[in-house]
Amino acid sequence: MTLAPHQKAKALKPNSRRPAKELCSECGLCDTYYIHYVKEACAFLNQQVADLETQAHGRSRDLESFDDCYFGVHHTMMSARKTEPIAGAQWTGIVSSIAIAMLEQGWVEGVVCVQNTPEDRFQPQPVIARNREEILAARVNKPTLSPNLSVLEQIEQSGLKRLLVIGVGCQIQALRAVEQQLGLEKLYVLGTPCVDNVTRAGLQKFLETTSRSPETVVHYEFMQDFRVHFKHEDGSVETVPFFGLKTNQLKDVFAPSCMSCFDYVNSLADLVVGYMGAPFGWQWIVVRNDRGAEMLELVKDQIETQPVTSQGDRHNAVQQGIPAYDKGVTLPMWAAKLMGVVIDKVGPRGLEYARFSIDSHFTRNYLYVKRHHPEKLEAHVPDYAKRIVEQYKLPE
Ligand code: FAD
Ligand code: SF4
Repeated sequence: MTLAPHQKAKALKPNSRRPAKELCSECGLCDTYYIHYVKEACAFLNQQVADLETQAHGRSRDLESFDDCYFGVHHTMMSARKTEPIAGAQWTGIVSSIAIAMLEQGWVEGVVCVQNTPEDRFQPQPVIARNREEILAARVNKPTLSPNLSVLEQIEQSGLKRLLVIGVGCQIQALRAVEQQLGLEKLYVLGTPCVDNVTRAGLQKFLETTSRSPETVVHYEFMQDFRVHFKHEDGSVETVPFFGLKTNQLKDVFAPSCMSCFDYVNSLADLVVGYMGAPFGWQWIVVRNDRGAEMLELVKDQIETQPVTSQGDRHNAVQQGIPAYDKGVTLPMWAAKLMGVVIDKVGPRGLEYARFSIDSHFTRNYLYVKRHHPEKLEAHVPDYAKRIVEQYKLPE
């Protein structure tokens, strides 16, 4: 049997330096012989979102369309929640439910998703799930860099032909780049937005700096009410206002890959399930193409939906946040709580909250790339992100 060119390549050993060096997000591609394609495929070595959008969706973002610029190519957006939420899911479990339906109705033979190791609930363990139990064991975010693509060799070797991959933007960008080499008849991609990810050590620092009881945190999320919500083992919920985070201590906690990422909304997935464009308690759905619409249709009897809405004006809050973050300003807790209450009452909501979060992260990341990797700035920042950043005055 003749081997494909990539099958002769050698995966990198764990802990060896990756081609993207400090910008590596540990997506897992380099743990497989698909490292053969790393120069073209790695999201941090070759930014090619527009070309891959055309490959996946039949067109790239229309930069004259305000919604396209922010949220990527899409047919529709909506808010949704499961009528019977899955206990222990990150939100209501729409992601796990779609994966289960696709597997049980025979659309796919396996689902790439990420469980945790037996010793550590936040240590990611990518798997190819083959039944409902294995998908459910992957529910809830592992808020750490996860090598999801490390299972790619197993896909080719196991002869799977129809596959669902669940993942975040950098993983999906590399996946799309090698999609044609996987020997699949059908690939479905279910994405989540992603931002501010960390290494396992970074996560520990974040929890220890921010939560009253880091060891008992089972789940956390930066919510639309401008607070971080920590859920603890005993079911109690602790909230910490964004403006009270110890920015001076946390500045280095986020992975350099995430400080230089401009694919918050997972542009290349068929269907994206997040929360930030939806009202509190609801999930935000972005259907990017016909495959994504078919995937969502499968769970329509399990969810209730409502149209997306948008309220407020994000610009002042974003502009004021830029120098505050840059200087590592940390407010006293009473002031942070007060500010949190005020901004929750009058601040951006729905899609405008999502734009607030995108603008805040893109401006921060633009400054990071400009300062740390100036030679990459022009090619690495996609045109849609440049348009978003241009709305603001940035420090040098
Ligand atoms: P569940 O049914 O609980 O399933 C969660 C799925 O996520 C599982 O299938 C699992 O395989 C996958 N997963 C878990 N950890 C990882 C990981 N590290 N890498 C790749 N896949 C993983 N949404 C927003 O709107 N704004 C954000 O800023 C945002 N940040 C996120 C950051 C991270 C690191 C992650 C993983 C997700 C983020 N999301 C964000 C998505 C959101 O938190 C929920 O994951 C999403 O709404 C799905 O919820 P669910 O209840 O349907 O998921
Ligand atoms: Fe390899 Fe992925 Fe790291 Fe890029 S981000 S160097 S493709 S492991």
